Amino acid sequence: MSSLHDRHKAVIPDWVALYYRDPIEITHGEGRHVWDAEGRRYLDFFGGILTTMTAHALPEVTKAVAEQAGRIIHSSTLYLNRPMVELAERIAALSGIPDARVFFTTSGTEANDAALLLATAYRRSNQILAMRNSYHGRSFSTVGITGNRAWSPTGLSPLQTLYVHGGVRTRGPYAQYTDERFTEACVADLEDLLGHTRDVAALIAEPIQGVGGFTSPPDGLYAAFRRVLDRHGILWISDEVQTGWGRTGDNFWGWQAHGQAGPPDILTFAKGIGNGMSVGGVVARAEVMNCLDANSISTFGGSPITMAAGLANLAYLLDHDLQGNARRVGGLLIERVRAACAGVAAVREVRGRGLMIGIELTEPGTERANPDAAGAVLEAARENGLLIGKGGGHNTSTLRIAPPLSLTVAEAEEGAAILEQALAAL
Ligand code: PMP
Repeated sequence: MSSLHDRHKAVIPDWVALYYRDPIEITHGEGRHVWDAEGRRYLDFFGGILTTMTAHALPEVTKAVAEQAGRIIHSSTLYLNRPMVELAERIAALSGIPDARVFFTTSGTEANDAALLLATAYRRSNQILAMRNSYHGRSFSTVGITGNRAWSPTGLSPLQTLYVHGGVRTRGPYAQYTDERFTEACVADLEDLLGHTRDVAALIAEPIQGVGGFTSPPDGLYAAFRRVLDRHGILWISDEVQTGWGRTGDNFWGWQAHGQAGPPDILTFAKGIGNGMSVGGVVARAEVMNCLDANSISTFGGSPITMAAGLANLAYLLDHDLQGNARRVGGLLIERVRAACAGVAAVREVRGRGLMIGIELTEPGTERANPDAAGAVLEAARENGLLIGKGGGHNTSTLRIAPPLSLTVAEAEEGAAILEQALAAL
């Protein structure tokens, strides 16, 4: 009998990447833990950003989904849909965007695709500014604005994209800059770009790049960008697919670290809000959202069952102050991770906010990416019962830690101890 991995390879495309030499089949989960098909238990330090924002098998969400499934799972369009309206009301109020309208999709890709549809229609331009090293999805339009070429399999997008500096600051001449100097240099670069470009529709950016390796621009960078964008009437799209819902601890949305930038013109979200159910969406003020003059609906975006999950999950997140938990437990975790990395020559930087922590690995003393070291730590952590992620534009050599937001102090300590052992193997 061939293994599930062999059967996977025989029917699933090669470009659907799997982690680990011997990939894991996850069969169930609870809280911050998952189990594989052999019954081994893992502490999940990555599923929080993939799908499971609050906790695996959260009873409140499971119950809401089961109840809705038992009532009706109809299309989200053509008829009034109470859970969709209720979740839209909550998200509109939380978004910070005045007179907000919310359109639900089934993924982050589709949310960004909708944002591009809106921005290009509103501005009547197909020119987009995106950040170097960014990731925005896998559709034809979103690969066209994804700066990380490892995730952008075609250059044939109908959009014209220009890439801006600012997402990554650990490499090249910028590595030694102070926050102020880095911000000034990136703004000057943006001004220069706009000096020879006309009619740009929008800038799209992740406040902290996710797939790009949890990079951390200085606070206020996007406020400085915004002043330039406003002069040109260019819209700002904040891709909050990874940074939303309190994950960064100090703020509910990533854009809020750039306070004076104000709310973005368009905000996109996805991943964890459904705690595993496929909920994505785009928020924009009415004037921008309603600029389309033809129908544009989605059969499954806003489906009652995914909305029921979103409502229950959001209520849990707010009632239990999981943003505060991300700040407190994340603060402790990054300290423990820093301690675990101290003296490990391959660690170039530990960075992060809340429960979004990255460990960049390079060949000791250089800027050269070290994907072998990242792979070795990933495997060693798994052997010891800890799942983490990796990312980063340069050959995925940043380890990524993003547990469910309900992580406890004891679990943070346990995970950091396993990571320390895994790093020691380098
Ligand atoms: N934007 C960002 C910032 C993401 O991290 C991702 C997913 N990694 C996406 C968009 C695309 O989301 P999805 O995989 O749900 O299409």
